Amino acid sequence: MERVGIVGAGTMGRGIAYVAITHGAQVTLYDVAPGALESAAAQIEAWLREAMGKGRLDEAEAQRARERLRLSTALEDFAQAEVIIEAAPEDLALKQEIFRQLDRACPPDAILASNTSSLSITALGAVTRRPERVGGMHFFNPAPVMRLVEIVRGLATSEETLRALSDLARRWGKTPVLVKDTPGFIVNRVARPFYLEALRLVGESVADPPTVDRLVRALGFRMGPFELMDLIGLDVNLAVSESLYRAFFEEPRFRPHPLQRQMVQAGRLGRKTGRGWYEYP
Ligand code: NAD
Repeated sequence: MERVGIVGAGTMGRGIAYVAITHGAQVTLYDVAPGALESAAAQIEAWLREAMGKGRLDEAEAQRARERLRLSTALEDFAQAEVIIEAAPEDLALKQEIFRQLDRACPPDAILASNTSSLSITALGAVTRRPERVGGMHFFNPAPVMRLVEIVRGLATSEETLRALSDLARRWGKTPVLVKDTPGFIVNRVARPFYLEALRLVGESVADPPTVDRLVRALGFRMGPFELMDLIGLDVNLAVSESLYRAFFEEPRFRPHPLQRQMVQAGRLGRKTGRGWYEYP
């Protein structure tokens, strides 16, 4: 599978595109928002330069990687794709609509994968005529750095699809783990209390975000929960929290916190808007 389509050129789509082009795949990166593709291309260029600066890529390899990237605003450009990785916002109705469109635009034997953090792969496969060829391929942020990729088996996903996605992840230097189609899969299920308990501490004025982050780092974590929310994007983190809460039939342990919504309402989405729990001037 060397011809790859990516839907959504945001934080994750551009990171996955970088991983793919630096491991030999031909990538068509698609987005609908004005400026998203240009901003993704600039970020990918910055990553290529950083890799060259560190001696991980030479100029010829970087040039070949650049030539493997194509930017697109038309799904028809996926007509030759062998695998599509969807990285659009965490909204089931939106993703289902995208999967309907992909089902029509892509070759019938192409695999349709989603980078969703928490939504049901089964529900995405169900709107296509090829649910056996729909699976989860969940990268972590930042995609160029993080090794883990969750490969998610929907109710109808075939063994062949799971094998193809796992092999692809390995070829791209990643470590695939096979997971069930359960809310939050492994990592976002395990990570929920990491964010939510921290938010409750701050919400009850027990401590402020820098204090919580400092204590959590002292326990051996690379980042505290508030720093990590800023990296992920508070809008993305809220959407995943709400989706998991609903998927577990409103289990109180998974209830999102009003502070998350307030920050999103204020437009403080983290690093990407220059301000979240911390400021990024
Ligand atoms: P983002 O908001 O940074 O990017 C989403 C992109 O999708 C935007 O560029 C937007 O213009 C584009 N888009 C919106 N509607 C579209 C459509 N109809 N067709 C094509 N593109 C469209 O979001 P993100 O952080 O990259 O998250 C994307 C997905 O990856 C979500 O499902 C999220 O849960 C998952 N994810 C996010 C992270 C993270 O840390 N941010 C980590 C792992 C997985």
